[in-house]
Amino acid sequence: MDCEYLIVGGGHTGAAAIEGIRAHDPTGRILLMSRENHPPYRRPPLSKALWFGKSTKDELPIHPEAFYRDQRVDLVLRREAVEIDPGERRLWDDRGVAYQYGSLLLATGARPRRLAVPGAESEGVHNYRSLEDYLYVESYLPRFQHALVLGAGFIGMEMAAALRHVGKEVTLLYPDEYPLRRVLPRELGLFVADYYRERGVETVSGEGVARIEERGEMVAHTSAGNEVTTQFLLAGIGVEPSTELAEAAGLDVGNGIEVDEYARTSDPKIYAAGDVAEFPYLALDKRMRIEHEDHAIQHGRAAGANMAGANRPYTTMPFFYSDLFDLGWEAVGEVDSSLDTHAVWKQEHREGVVLYLKEDVVRGALLWNVWDHVDWARGLIRTAKAMTAVERERVVMDSIGG
Ligand code: NAP
Repeated sequence: MDCEYLIVGGGHTGAAAIEGIRAHDPTGRILLMSRENHPPYRRPPLSKALWFGKSTKDELPIHPEAFYRDQRVDLVLRREAVEIDPGERRLWDDRGVAYQYGSLLLATGARPRRLAVPGAESEGVHNYRSLEDYLYVESYLPRFQHALVLGAGFIGMEMAAALRHVGKEVTLLYPDEYPLRRVLPRELGLFVADYYRERGVETVSGEGVARIEERGEMVAHTSAGNEVTTQFLLAGIGVEPSTELAEAAGLDVGNGIEVDEYARTSDPKIYAAGDVAEFPYLALDKRMRIEHEDHAIQHGRAAGANMAGANRPYTTMPFFYSDLFDLGWEAVGEVDSSLDTHAVWKQEHREGVVLYLKEDVVRGALLWNVWDHVDWARGLIRTAKAMTAVERERVVMDSIGG
């Protein structure tokens, strides 16, 4: 099969790449291949809005079916790309079909890290990432009353809240001292753990799961020798970028497929974007890999545009967000709790801004129940100027109205 543009991966990145291509080339043939059973769909509602009755499954598709027809995009679903010959600009799928491309986008994303302890192959142990996972958990709901959520990263926090909201007993177990440890400053993380407990989630910090035993129900033995009896274990213990295709094709791979500011890999006809790509974050002057929706969309769109000749660097500062029961937040930049942090509260732990600093220069901002301030935060980061604590306090309060 011949196409001008071949997109591998049917997530947010692949879907956005179509728009990027079409903005610069209205006619070139586009083929999007996805391993999944569904055309590209929105992922965030799977761990948020769908569980809280704020969205429905029919709102999941990113584009209506007619979009692919109108834009002359061939969707090839339930197929996996297995090999690339960059020299010949050819790719093969798992049924041996060959595709000849003008340019190729690897938007292969990331896959959940599997729990690797004795007993983890038990029927009640699950990862959570795709629409199929959502459908499975939804159908499994009548079969469990208690869920053990392992890991207090994004999936663990959102799914613990979701399962609690639909009436399950939930134990949230995590190896760190507090939830979202890589993101939140300690004091805020400890507050969040309290907040979850107030909403009926049992939290167990500083422990992992060492093994799982079937005794009618599942018994998870923790690293500290405790036991948690459950019928359903959901592991949200991180993801790994799907880089195998790129590695086998001889592309440069570091913490993801390495790309330049145009989303180009070490092969000029192959691009990579989204979760799988390590890219230069120009505003931070740092190479990063980001696993969030807005980056997936913006980077995918930029890659598509460059495949079609736009020749424009990716300068976006993507934001990310989460909901933790009634608490909501948005963030942008280097939101990394290993940096110095300065929290400026309008109402302590309820409404305010946490700034992440390197030598008194703002590198990231967490907008905690503060809305419509992402552009403001971007501006603060782009300024890249050292500020005293008093100046930071004033700049935040002037903006959020203290
Ligand atoms: P994550 O946010 O990276 O969090 C994984 C957590 O699991 C980390 O706290 C990690 O601790 C911990 N962990 C690692 N190994 C563990 C083990 N064996 N036992 C217990 N805990 C373990 O990843 P995630 O929550 O699995 O989410 C998957 C992906 O989806 C991420 O890329 C995330 O960004 C994305 N996602 C994003 C959103 C959003 O933007 N709102 C929502 C859902 C999912 P260490 O950090 O100490 O390794």
